Amino acid sequence: MPAAAPPWLTLDHVWLPYTQMAQMATATLPLPVVGAQGARIELADGRTLIDGIASWWTACHGYKHPHIRAAVAAQLDQLPHVMFAGLAHEPGYTLAQRLARLLPGDLEHVFFSESGSVAVEIALKMAVQFWRSQGQDRHRFIAFRHGYHGDTLGALSVTDPATGFHDAFAAWRLPQLFAELPRSEAERAEFEQLLATQCTQVAAVIVEPLVQGAGGMRFFDADTLAFIRAACDRHDVLLILDEIMTGFGRTGRMFACQGDDGAGVVPDLICLSKALTGGTLPLAATVATARVFDAFRSAHAEDAFMHGPTFMANPLACAAANASLDLFEREPRLQQVAAIATQLAEELEPCRALPGVVDVRVKGAIGVVQLATTEASALRPAFVERGVWVRPFGDIVYLAPAFTMVRDDLAALTAAVVDVVSDWSRAHG
Ligand SMILES: *Cc1c(COP(=O)(O)O)cnc(C)c1O
Repeated sequence: MPAAAPPWLTLDHVWLPYTQMAQMATATLPLPVVGAQGARIELADGRTLIDGIASWWTACHGYKHPHIRAAVAAQLDQLPHVMFAGLAHEPGYTLAQRLARLLPGDLEHVFFSESGSVAVEIALKMAVQFWRSQGQDRHRFIAFRHGYHGDTLGALSVTDPATGFHDAFAAWRLPQLFAELPRSEAERAEFEQLLATQCTQVAAVIVEPLVQGAGGMRFFDADTLAFIRAACDRHDVLLILDEIMTGFGRTGRMFACQGDDGAGVVPDLICLSKALTGGTLPLAATVATARVFDAFRSAHAEDAFMHGPTFMANPLACAAANASLDLFEREPRLQQVAAIATQLAEELEPCRALPGVVDVRVKGAIGVVQLATTEASALRPAFVERGVWVRPFGDIVYLAPAFTMVRDDLAALTAAVVDVVSDWSRAHG
């Protein structure tokens, strides 16, 4: 018997994300967490779990990193929050400068918000208004099959409906254009054709570079990304890269758009969030090139970008993000990602031979075992029983750990994956 749940853990008033709450037995209540340190989550009953997914891929330095804690504590003493219109604070302005320096090309105009979905909404609005400022009414976007860009209505409209996230809103969706990622010759010709016929109404193409995350951790190569950039240029359509998941080292480079070999592409707009604060506080940024930004500068007040979240550039979150960037500068994060990639590839490889395993793939600090089922989520309890926190969904079991994870902890995670997938394979494969 598990220890009794703490008294605050009832489902009388909390509405859970992505959860059918009618079916929740006591056994599947969310696990009560009392602390988290490094790679470990501490449960109320005294157990600890090794975290394989870094809280939706955010906690890239592990939990409670002392440098981020200290920065946020100091900021809390000095100025926890103040509005960002008419007033300015150092952590926000410094962070904008640092992001501009870090991002490739002339991505240098930073608009802050509080979540990834909102950063995408902002990018979509910027793209539409960019064209309007040149007298063009372009209100459509091209997005890709298996893409995911968030849960708010605009972001949802460019998310592949088939990922099953939002059937209820089908009638409310803004009609967008969906394409296959242009990998083969035929797909490239088709994508080119779509752009050629639609470019006068398409404001931008939006894509997650190199890794489609919530749509199933599907990888594609830098070549395909470069093709998308070149096609956008040929038809004078903007390119929005959603690096909310891939940004800050996850794929092995600071930003996935820098490519597998560093060749890379520069988008017109880029969206950042998730690991921006090292997984500590909500913050997002939409960053534009000079070309996009300049289209909003004119003699007319109505040409301004009319958007301004209440908690825009929250100083605590900006202090956390600045501290997280310090850690990327001071500590060998990208080498750690490379070492994790090597270990993931080696240790997940045995899954490939198991009946029912469709694919095993690794990019940076993301390791994926794809199964011949869409019910991989049923495997979640088996991971908790093995003392690890891994959350399979759709047809995949995946790991996306903190970059600071030590070898033995990662080995424990991959061993759990091999174990659980082997058991599943024997029963179902
Ligand atoms: C998580 C995610 C989002 C949405 O971010 P939220 O902060 O959850 O709104 C958008 N795009 C991608 C690629 C993501 O991984």
